[in-house]
Amino acid sequence: MRRPNFYAGLELARFSERRRDTAYIDRQIAGTAARVVPVWRSRNLVVPGDQPRAVFLDPASVDALATPPKLLVFLGERDGASYFALDVSGHEENALPALFGPQTSFLDLRSVGGLMDRQEGALLAYARGILHWHARHRHCGVCGAPTRPEAAGHVRRCTDAACNTEHFPRTDPAVIMLVTHEDHALLGRQRIWPAGMHSTLAGFVEPGESLEEAVSREVFEEAGVSVADVRYHSSQPWPFPSSIMLGFHARATSRDLAVDPEELETAGWFSRSFLQQTHDPDRFRLPRVDSIARRLIEDWLAGAA
Ligand SMILES: [Zn+2]
Repeated sequence: MRRPNFYAGLELARFSERRRDTAYIDRQIAGTAARVVPVWRSRNLVVPGDQPRAVFLDPASVDALATPPKLLVFLGERDGASYFALDVSGHEENALPALFGPQTSFLDLRSVGGLMDRQEGALLAYARGILHWHARHRHCGVCGAPTRPEAAGHVRRCTDAACNTEHFPRTDPAVIMLVTHEDHALLGRQRIWPAGMHSTLAGFVEPGESLEEAVSREVFEEAGVSVADVRYHSSQPWPFPSSIMLGFHARATSRDLAVDPEELETAGWFSRSFLQQTHDPDRFRLPRVDSIARRLIEDWLAGAA
């Protein structure tokens, strides 16, 4: 079996059937085996270092550390321990070291995920993703009334009795594709990216189109390239803030380019041999190791695609 992408492959039993069993949930959080993953304004708590480690809170500290409205989401069970995500965004930044420990930091998972234990990284991604959904769905999209969490944090229900709509966590599909033509690959860069970074093209799936159609449309819009043979590769949870990346390889019908300057600063064809060489990172570098973009490129270079 192929190795999972970063942030995928989480070995956690989600036990969705237990989320409405409040006696079970209360028992888990009261038990000493619970492990609580705090999230502060979409950042995860870690001990930084060469291999950053996730920091878990004692369940006894939840009441003291939660900020109103208290939001504790049941993530699942692993090895006899129950995992919960806790939103602590209400604290001021300068209060965090005293509350969570001077050796710890709330960091953007993207800055440390590639260095972390895969399981911890995937768990933090899950916690971050679901708490971000809560933060952005405090009001009902149907009638505008406030919503409140249910099912241990996996549903939000409209508080207007006549409306009563249930809202479920969202994941927005995005396609990401390595387009190749013979021994060349199409990579582009956006102005906002770190100096030298080049990556695959990507974009959100629109209503009324298939994934394959989204791949073709995005490549043509951004680079003016027509593709054939769109082949699925793998997927990756990408809760930055709320996507799932659906990875593809596609073959271009020619190397003619018409780059849209609104979308990309540059795009071009890079040979296999160029991509296998070492470069000055400020001039050329591949995307981060935790990204599916990197995986799509590496698998193509290795001849696995
Ligand atoms: Zn409503």
